[in-house]
Amino acid sequence: MSAATQPTTPPSPVNPFDLAFHIDIFLIAFAGVFALFALPRAVARFSRVAEWRQGHILRAIPLERRAPRPPVMRSVQSLAFGAPAADNVTSEESHTLHSDTHLIRHPAAKQEGWSLPPHVRAWSSRVPTFGSILRYRLETGFSAGQALVLLVYFSVLVYAGLLKSNPFSDPLRTGFVAMSQIPIVYLLATKNNLLGMLIGAGYEKVGVYKILNQHAPTVYVQLNYIHRFAGIILVVASNVHSIGYIYEWTLDGTISDRIRHDPMVQWAFVTLISVDFLYIFSLPFFRRRAYNVFYCSHVVFFILFLPAVRPYICHISNLEIDIHIQVYGHQRSVFPYVIAAAGIFGLDLLIRLIKTRVYNARIRPIPDLMLTRIEIPQLNAGWRAGQHVRIRVLSSGLGWFGWAESHPFTIATAAKTPEGMILLCKKAGGWTGRLYEMAKVAGYGSDEGAFGRMVQVMIEGPYGGPGHCVFASYSAAIFFVGGSGITFALSAVQDILQRDSEGASRVKIIEVIWTVPDSASLTPLVPQFAALIQQSIYAPLKISVHYTRASDNPPGKDFLPPGLTLSAGRPKLAKVLDAVISRAVSYGSGVKASMDITGVVVGVCGPEGMGDEVAQAISQVDDGRRWAVGGIEMHEE
Ligand SMILES: Cc1cc2nc3c(=O)[nH]c(=O)nc-3n(C[C@H](O)[C@H](O)[C@H](O)COP(=O)(O)OP(=O)(O)OC[C@H]3O[C@@H](n4cnc5c(N)ncnc54)[C@H](O)[C@@H]3O)c2cc1C
Repeated sequence: MSAATQPTTPPSPVNPFDLAFHIDIFLIAFAGVFALFALPRAVARFSRVAEWRQGHILRAIPLERRAPRPPVMRSVQSLAFGAPAADNVTSEESHTLHSDTHLIRHPAAKQEGWSLPPHVRAWSSRVPTFGSILRYRLETGFSAGQALVLLVYFSVLVYAGLLKSNPFSDPLRTGFVAMSQIPIVYLLATKNNLLGMLIGAGYEKVGVYKILNQHAPTVYVQLNYIHRFAGIILVVASNVHSIGYIYEWTLDGTISDRIRHDPMVQWAFVTLISVDFLYIFSLPFFRRRAYNVFYCSHVVFFILFLPAVRPYICHISNLEIDIHIQVYGHQRSVFPYVIAAAGIFGLDLLIRLIKTRVYNARIRPIPDLMLTRIEIPQLNAGWRAGQHVRIRVLSSGLGWFGWAESHPFTIATAAKTPEGMILLCKKAGGWTGRLYEMAKVAGYGSDEGAFGRMVQVMIEGPYGGPGHCVFASYSAAIFFVGGSGITFALSAVQDILQRDSEGASRVKIIEVIWTVPDSASLTPLVPQFAALIQQSIYAPLKISVHYTRASDNPPGKDFLPPGLTLSAGRPKLAKVLDAVISRAVSYGSGVKASMDITGVVVGVCGPEGMGDEVAQAISQVDDGRRWAVGGIEMHEE
């Protein structure tokens, strides 16, 4: 704020603008250390040209039709549904049938050998004791590693706020601390940010609300927990800054004059109201019960905040001219921060626009899973296993504003398959519920006589995913998933098998552990599971489904193909992990026997708490076994 508005205490000997600038430089350097540690894995990942084309822009490519592979196993599709096995089927048929032609060993694969992806161990698995400490969960979904990052961050800002200054008598300083956080909050709120790309973010995805509120939902967006923490610092610092001035002006009796005549003070109030409303509408109450209120308020106040703190050359009629000049000078110091934030925000919007596609999609209900399957066969490339997209369904069937809502869903298929992109959307609330109802009333439409309904969708993405972790570079892959988290496992397994067919996978063993409340959830996915098992030629796939609710009539064992099991009760994570390690270490036959042992990757996607249980199981693995298998790494989606 202006010198005119400053309290009467002597000014601090520290230049607050320089201090704020240096604080930001320090925080960038701190992030740079993480990027540096991630560099070897980034180099390994991008050393393969294919990686440059995956995971950034969605696209449609022509797929080559390949000759059918001679059968290696009996047709499990027909086992399950009495349907004939078919090649080259598209997503029209793939709900009950499944093509495996795209998984036939690619002609481009090296005939004389395999073109294996390089593997670089994560730091957490190189120093497992340290990794276990950092992975230790202080709170559901909140690790010691995250706490350490926030502690360093907080200490730096406390230093900036208190260095030769007292927040009770020098509210100007807290204003600069708030200012330093503006670009950081905006940067970490964007979907497309350089920092996330460089760090290739790990599995830390839980917000600081975890510390403040036990019932806060899990946050899925990478680096989001720092966005929230920086946001809270911005809110607290802005309020301390404002309250300091309001107190001073109230004491000297100038407050009403200033509010009436000083545009800078008026805008300061707009800024304060913006940050406070941003905070209030971000509380778990709104996020959980009224997501649209949270989202819209975030967009509105995010946009309003920037012009409110913009540089402003004001005319203050009742103040002295020398004070007027200082007002201008102070405001100008915020300018680079506002420009940086606006630039980051604008660039993100532009990239989001570039990453948006409009397609016709078919929606079908899957009643056993209470979900809607969205199929976009034309869109078949540009994503990595585990990534998600944001989708808008442009139909009035979703209500007045339903078409404008954008919802995130993990892509359930690997890229470059005839099925194209498939999303499985669990009926969770208003929007997904209306989508399910729309799909249910569809019946057999006129479109090629297929079941379902055609709708126009706007797809934005892909986002998220495993970062620099390449599943196909490990010796073994386990996926612990719950409920609709199966979408993540499906795309990851399909991706590994696809790479295997091209001679580009080190994975020897794949295991999927799917926990569902009801055993009936398995039925609609049996054909797809069976087809994947059938395709797992070089890397045997085992799928274990666990149901947690008592069932009168679970599907009979004969109904299930080999490799697929159904059991009552929760899975024993430690036992599964131990068995996979044993197999990864001792596996000694076939083409993969001579390959190096490059560790186990554990993918997790499911309800809150699942990641914590898996992290605990990993940390309990004996050091010798961990070392023998080449490390255990966890990726939480
Ligand atoms: C990265 C990511 C991937 C996901 N992948 C899948 C998937 O593959 N399959 C699946 O069934 N579900 C998935 N979800 C969850 C799915 O996005 C929500 O269930 C859906 O948006 C709920 O919308 P609704 O209006 O029906 O429910 P609501 O009743 O409005 O909300 C239910 C819950 O979903 C959250 N939510 C609502 N709208 C959004 C939104 N636009 N963005 C983020 N969260 C929201 C709310 O906080 C609330 O906790 C994913 C979520 C994220 C963040």
